Amino acid sequence: MSLPIFIGITQTLSFSKRKGRTLLCPCHYSIIMKISFLFLSFLIATIANAQQADKYILLKPDRVFDGETMQTGWVVLIKNNKIEQAGALMFKLPAGTEIIELKGMTLLPGLIEGHSHLFLHPYNETSWDDQVLKESRAERTARAVNHAKATLMAGFTTVRDLGTEGAMYDDVGLKKAIEKGVIPGPRMIVATRAIVAKGTYGPKSPSPDVELPQGAEEVAGFDELSKAVRSQIGHGADVIKVYADYRYGPNGEALPTFSQLELEWIVGNATSSGRKVVAHASTAEGMKRAANAGISTIEHGDGGTEEVFKLMKEKNVALCPTLAAGDAIQQYRGWKKGTDPEPQSITNKKKSFQLALKLGVTICMGGDVGVFTHGDNAREMELMVEYGMKTIDVLKSATSTNADVFGYGNKIGRMKKDLLADIIAVEGDPSADIKNIRKIKLVMKDGMIYKTP
Ligand SMILES: [Zn+2]
Repeated sequence: MSLPIFIGITQTLSFSKRKGRTLLCPCHYSIIMKISFLFLSFLIATIANAQQADKYILLKPDRVFDGETMQTGWVVLIKNNKIEQAGALMFKLPAGTEIIELKGMTLLPGLIEGHSHLFLHPYNETSWDDQVLKESRAERTARAVNHAKATLMAGFTTVRDLGTEGAMYDDVGLKKAIEKGVIPGPRMIVATRAIVAKGTYGPKSPSPDVELPQGAEEVAGFDELSKAVRSQIGHGADVIKVYADYRYGPNGEALPTFSQLELEWIVGNATSSGRKVVAHASTAEGMKRAANAGISTIEHGDGGTEEVFKLMKEKNVALCPTLAAGDAIQQYRGWKKGTDPEPQSITNKKKSFQLALKLGVTICMGGDVGVFTHGDNAREMELMVEYGMKTIDVLKSATSTNADVFGYGNKIGRMKKDLLADIIAVEGDPSADIKNIRKIKLVMKDGMIYKTP
């Protein structure tokens, strides 16, 4: 702070010397006195800051989900923005520790949403086409700000946001605003625009003579693929998303978009930068190509067969099933859940999800939230249980598994010393009833409390 001022005064003095004038006139003395005073104040403030005591918070719940198993008799000590201790209270508490009693509650690592679109809102409010074509970027950002807050307050302290769907690189700006504390929101792992094969995505133009803006970056050929990957990285993408198939067949059916070599080309371009590639894929062939290309997660995966899931297991490719998106879309189309018979697509989805579980595929928790309401992220966790996954495994999926699969296991996802203090408390035991995951009582992100009991 004071360094540029000192450089300034030094330059003034040497300038005076060169000109052969009096080195220090009374006005120089006065300036030096003022600067010295400022510098001294700055120094004192810096020392005072350095000596300021670390902030400790002790959380005392009934039980702690450590990211893998449920623990009883545990407490968690936070030091500033990190976890200092997690376990039985066998240590001496530092002086001045703030103690928060969480009677009847369960402490968990902050939940991680594996598949969000903060720049979309439910399609029963406005169709996807109309959001992409008719809503201004300002409106979409205004909505995204609300979505970010709702997500955080629902206990999701991190999101992997898989594409702005036409809002360009605005996820990068939103992420920065959250990091700077301008608005409350989750940590964001952003994909920016996502990559689609030219002519396969939407919105579809009503006339072949009119080119419409698209919901993702269109590419054709290897050069454009490289350019898109590198440009998205340059603009701030943490992860690259590619559509390995899409509904562009002669009858509107989903078919593979990129060839095996093209997918490998994308992965090659991205992985040398240390970034992972995720693929939207719902056909068996699209999934197979994605898995063989070295993609880290497959999104949706509805058409997964035994052969494909075995391949995913072998290649260590995780499945992000997005059960809630399918459930929501069927209801938007008129399905009255609980009254009407189950639509075929839901029955099929249950079967493929159960097959993936049986074959030991790693399952991420990601609902494609945005298709349904932000803040209602727990809907995916409830459906995972409803479709046959063990409740404790669903909790694991939304914390340590997502953290590991996305490459953030050394920062978040577990209740472990030195990880970031992203922690939530819910009423009751969510491993006994997943619905308890909605009863959010405490939200802490980076050691900062956003909600208290
Ligand atoms: Zn999506």
